[in-house]
Amino acid sequence: MYIPVSTKSYIRNVVTKAGGIYIHVPFCQKRCLYCDFYSTTYGLEWKRLYVSALRREMLSRRSEIDSSRVPSLYIGGGTPSQLPASLLMEMFQAIAESFTFAEDAEITIEVNPDDVTPRLIEALHQTPVNRISMGVQTFSDKLLRFLNRRHTSAQALQAVRLFREANYNNISLDLIYGLPGQTFDEWKNDVDMVVNLGVPHLSAYALSYEEGTALHKMLEEGHVVETPDELSWQMYDYLMDKTADAGMEHYEISNFAIPGKQAQHNSRYWNGSPYLGLGPGAHSYDGENIRRSNNTSLKEYVQATEDVPHQTEILTPRERYDEIVMTRLRTFSGLPLGVLTAEQRTYCLQMAEPHILNGNLVREGDVLRLSKRGIFVSNSVISDLMF
Ligand code: SF4
Repeated sequence: MYIPVSTKSYIRNVVTKAGGIYIHVPFCQKRCLYCDFYSTTYGLEWKRLYVSALRREMLSRRSEIDSSRVPSLYIGGGTPSQLPASLLMEMFQAIAESFTFAEDAEITIEVNPDDVTPRLIEALHQTPVNRISMGVQTFSDKLLRFLNRRHTSAQALQAVRLFREANYNNISLDLIYGLPGQTFDEWKNDVDMVVNLGVPHLSAYALSYEEGTALHKMLEEGHVVETPDELSWQMYDYLMDKTADAGMEHYEISNFAIPGKQAQHNSRYWNGSPYLGLGPGAHSYDGENIRRSNNTSLKEYVQATEDVPHQTEILTPRERYDEIVMTRLRTFSGLPLGVLTAEQRTYCLQMAEPHILNGNLVREGDVLRLSKRGIFVSNSVISDLMF
């Protein structure tokens, strides 16, 4: 439910809370077939205007969280590594003017493999970045070309090598499975490559055909077909087994990490903590019932003289309940029933009962968790528990 409320009331709710920061960098060199994230292919002048506007937004919104002890920063997009080194430096200067990080803060930047050069790494060395997230998606050059990705498999391997040589070992790679025409062996090779590389974190997503994307159009026109469920499950099953053998914890449906290397920032999304989202299209959350989303328009963003154009959403208790169920059940630590009201808890347990009986859900004390079998049907289990 979208209700326009004043920024003041939003600020009242979030002020002084320790919150993570997300910065959306809305630039890509070209668009990948499957992607529905907000980004543009605008050039250098727009990047300059963006960084200036970002500085303004940071200064005007820093009081929405406790800016003196920020626990995590995630710079995503888009493609942050498409900013030239000088603008990256400028962005970090602006961040430092508005925020101070906790000593153990996790500071992540997303990069595209073919942007990773000694020059980029040299620039990152002058920033507090201590975690790298790289969109590899697949090590099959044929599939990379099909997806309109810019990089090759060799460039992805080279990027990991360059980062490691520069002592960036906290690396997360993204993979996608269920790509059109992808065979089980191609997927097996992707997972094996990541495990053999020994990176501490892997995010692996099932391909989804998002409306408005080029891939969705291809599906509608019959140029591609969706991967059969059975093959998707086989791929996911292999992913779970292989990562478990490698000592990685399956801590969220799509995320795997060696102990201690779980994504701190993303975990804030899943456990309902507050975060401040900056940049066009970025979302913020007060940790209770207010969400804000900046408009997905770079033009409006750079032209804003006061508050950035945005929408604010007040969650009803039912919407809040649905969110808690949806996000917490995705995690290995599960849904702690104690976070629900008495009425919600009764409803939740009533809806969960058939799934506990058929083994999709496990109840351990006051926590509900998906079983391994339940993970395969997580969407329907979770939607059954929602209002
Ligand atoms: S997947 Fe990444 S690089 Fe590709 S269009 Fe989306 S944001 Fe840009």
